[in-house]
Amino acid sequence: MSQQAVTRLDKRMLIGGKWVDADERADVVHPYDGERVGSVPMATESQVAEAIDAAEAAFEESDLSAYERYELLSATARAVEERADEIARILTSEQGKPLPDARGEVDRAVQTLDLSAEQAKRMFGEYVPMDAQRGFAKDHCFTQREPLGVVAAITPFNFPLNLMVHKVGPALAAGNSVVGKPASNTPLTAVALFECLAEAADTIDASVPDGLFTLVTGSGSTVGDAILDHEAVEAISFTGSTSVGKYLANNSGMTEVTLELGGNDPTIVWRDTDIEAAAAQVVGGACSNAGQVCNSVERVLVPEDIEDEVVDALVDAAESLTVGDPFEAGTDVASMVDDDQFETVVELFEATVEAGATVECGGDYGGDLGPRTFEPTVLSDVTPDMPAAKAETFGPLVPVIAVEDFEEAIAEANNTEYGLEAGLFTQDIDRAKRAADEIDAGGVNINTVSGFRADHMPYGGFKDSGVGKEGIKYAVEHFSRSKLVGFHQG
Ligand code: NAD
Repeated sequence: MSQQAVTRLDKRMLIGGKWVDADERADVVHPYDGERVGSVPMATESQVAEAIDAAEAAFEESDLSAYERYELLSATARAVEERADEIARILTSEQGKPLPDARGEVDRAVQTLDLSAEQAKRMFGEYVPMDAQRGFAKDHCFTQREPLGVVAAITPFNFPLNLMVHKVGPALAAGNSVVGKPASNTPLTAVALFECLAEAADTIDASVPDGLFTLVTGSGSTVGDAILDHEAVEAISFTGSTSVGKYLANNSGMTEVTLELGGNDPTIVWRDTDIEAAAAQVVGGACSNAGQVCNSVERVLVPEDIEDEVVDALVDAAESLTVGDPFEAGTDVASMVDDDQFETVVELFEATVEAGATVECGGDYGGDLGPRTFEPTVLSDVTPDMPAAKAETFGPLVPVIAVEDFEEAIAEANNTEYGLEAGLFTQDIDRAKRAADEIDAGGVNINTVSGFRADHMPYGGFKDSGVGKEGIKYAVEHFSRSKLVGFHQG
């Protein structure tokens, strides 16, 4: 057992302002060594229904002003900040990313809460100049933004703290009540976040109704179906796999749905760039969090005449990474979150090598490296039809695909059912503009990798990568509605 992993963190879920248990509980384990970290309740469908009833009642009761919502979220940010080291330890214990990366995620979550707090004060409407149309010069109209009601927030395992904050923060900022559902294998950081919310609610002057923020834990399908079945849920904000996202979209009827789904993001490294610097970023973008990042570099596209040079630089960068225990200082790449995730990467890797790809470095997994651990692996001679090029691998693989010209690079970038983000390294402004115009993805990042994200920017994919945008301002828009108010004479 790693010396610093948390143990015996047996927690409850937060329903109607009370920390409650369920008949069944689920263990949470440390991905690196499989030891038990703690446990959470497995909510039943009726508990979820009860939680949503309480959230609905809290929404009706709440009369928090924008300033009071700002205070609640700011106080939560301070509470998370206060517990930052402890929460980072919980995060690494249940999710398995290196401890400094977990600490980085906590810092991001604090900022995301502060951004949400600020956005609570910016629920602007607009004045509509009615004299723009003949015959309405004496009318006055404006829009005002209103909260929706109960918002459900369902999150994945890979950034269990910051992605929950990306939903809970804007939902509360807009004046809604929120029901959070964390991933089954990483629920404990979400529990810590809701503890911070509860503490913050007690410290501000305003009265925060019980049930304004709710956390249910357990099976995704049980909780998901209970959310879909409850009429009070006005919006579902989901981040996770495309298959679950499509299930929710197909079964949510008139409920607002925001979907942040999978990706198979390309990054193009063109001739006119500093190849060594680009390669270091590409490897970082492919292997961070052991590759378990939605906008990680999944495919590297390079002109065929510089393929060898780029591959050499990628190998140097990949070999400089340290693989091991996420609690050891200096570890860059640790284990995958669970056996399923690990086996998916192994299968995609083996099938791609079988199909003719060349392993330039890495390729080792499990055994002495540690269970569920995969070395950063650069693959060359990859063609677009090979498994690791076609699927979202969600592992530390760096598949390099050679292209003849820029036209083919763009075509290959778009040769996927996904469209989350893309990266392009070039010094040529025309090439950059062309990529921005022609790549069919929610974000095109010039001179960095696909994986670029700042928490206030609009973020969300096209095609099978999702519907709607996150980023605090944009999420607040999704979690609120615009009402027209008109003043008319005679
Ligand atoms: P997942 O779809 O398995 O689970 C995500 C969440 O959905 C979990 O909380 C899970 O319990 C819940 N869930 C499972 N079945 C459900 C159902 N029937 N109804 C409702 N909820 C259900 O995804 P994961 O394995 O945790 O995360 C990995 C995936 O998430 C990858 O595809 C990754 O690309 C994607 N992701 C996308 C973004 C983004 O912003 N686009 C960010 C992070 C991760």
